[in-house]
Amino acid sequence: MSVVTRFPPSPTGFMHIGNARTALFNYLYARRHGGKFLVRIEDTDRKRHSEEAVQAIIEGLDWMGLEHDGEITSQFARQDHHKEIAEELLAKGQAYYCYCSPEELEQMREAAKESGAKTFYDRRWRDKGPEDAPEGIAPVVRIKAPLDGVTTIKDHVQGEVSVPNDQLDDFIILRSDGTPTYMLSVVVDDYDMGVTHILRGDDHLNNTFRQKVIIDAMGWDLPEYAHLPMILGQDGSKFSKRHGAQGVHDFRDMGYLPEALCNYLLRLGWSHGDDEIISREQAIEWFDLEHIGKSGAKFDYAKLENLNAHYISEGDINHILEYAAPFYKSRHGIELDDLAIERITKGQDELKSRAKTLIQFADESVFYAKSSPLNFDEKAQSLIDDGQEVLKLLLEGFSSMSEINSDSVKDLCQSIADSHMDGKLGKVAMPLRAAITGTTVSPSIFEACAILGAQECCTRLNAALK
Ligand code: GLU
Repeated sequence: MSVVTRFPPSPTGFMHIGNARTALFNYLYARRHGGKFLVRIEDTDRKRHSEEAVQAIIEGLDWMGLEHDGEITSQFARQDHHKEIAEELLAKGQAYYCYCSPEELEQMREAAKESGAKTFYDRRWRDKGPEDAPEGIAPVVRIKAPLDGVTTIKDHVQGEVSVPNDQLDDFIILRSDGTPTYMLSVVVDDYDMGVTHILRGDDHLNNTFRQKVIIDAMGWDLPEYAHLPMILGQDGSKFSKRHGAQGVHDFRDMGYLPEALCNYLLRLGWSHGDDEIISREQAIEWFDLEHIGKSGAKFDYAKLENLNAHYISEGDINHILEYAAPFYKSRHGIELDDLAIERITKGQDELKSRAKTLIQFADESVFYAKSSPLNFDEKAQSLIDDGQEVLKLLLEGFSSMSEINSDSVKDLCQSIADSHMDGKLGKVAMPLRAAITGTTVSPSIFEACAILGAQECCTRLNAALK
């Protein structure tokens, strides 16, 4: 049997990190088995529906590199077919019309509350026929859930989970306005899409028992299930807004590389021995259901940052620049040109080893992309104000050198330090850094000067001199 997994998000406006992990697991499982990874948008809530919200999910998947197979399915577009299945269930005697009024339902709810029953609907229409139907009332359609016994789901993560059938109600599959309910639509879509494995959050485990009622009534095969424990905040409660960033786009905007976030999400809830760094290829080779963790995993920003630093330091510079480009633009108003890319590429080793995020990478390398005169930040300006004499000597030094390298720049600084600053190299290097980069934080200033070249250094020093 060929594996088919699915990712069926409700478009809420953004891709939640928990959904992102679910998508990743489904993707990996499908790829591991040479199967298909399908995407379905559960867009039946038309009041809140927006195309932007759908787009946010597609962008999130795209950013994470989770390519899906085939067309994206719209659940809403399939509603007529969901209705047909409800009618088929009615015809088979597996479902029935229920004409209860809101008042009757309210009375049943009250009674159930008093008796402590798990379900409230007393199935009063289950065995009645159309001849009993009152006039002028649009009925709902309810499924006939089993009346006794136990329903057991064999879950790849949770193990065997059972629910006594008297806790399953005859839930609604078609509303009185004729629209199918979520419970029906999901089951029908999963069946039609040929889904063999359902990996989803364990908040859906309760739904699974109900969905099985429909699956059994239709005589369809039950898919395999793996219900994933929730992602938790550091305090052990469900990961939510108060724990910080929630959406994939938040992490993107904080300067994380997709491969770092994917690696992090993979390890958050799945393990392969003690391996922490797992490439996409390895993940596809290794991912299985047996090693999904059984309890909720705590979101740890420090770990994510470590992975990000790793992927930045190991990453191909063009790849890093592609993902860092928005930060040069948004934070500094700069589009990288060929010269900037050439300089950053030359200085990449140190830049990459310093950066924990792409924001840091962009901030610490943007001076390569700027042209003189620079805007000096406050601290740099004060170093420049106090270091005019040193800067003049540096300008003289650079003017007399046509070729420079890190060593020759360092030697120049040291000789100025020896003759004017009691040998203190920092007293020369700091104003130099301020004049060359416009800031007080940068990679080695000697190397930076060497990469910029003597002429550019002279231009920048000149601009810093009063
Ligand atoms: N649309 C549901 C959600 O976003 C997913 C349902 C499912 O996985 O069956 O939570």
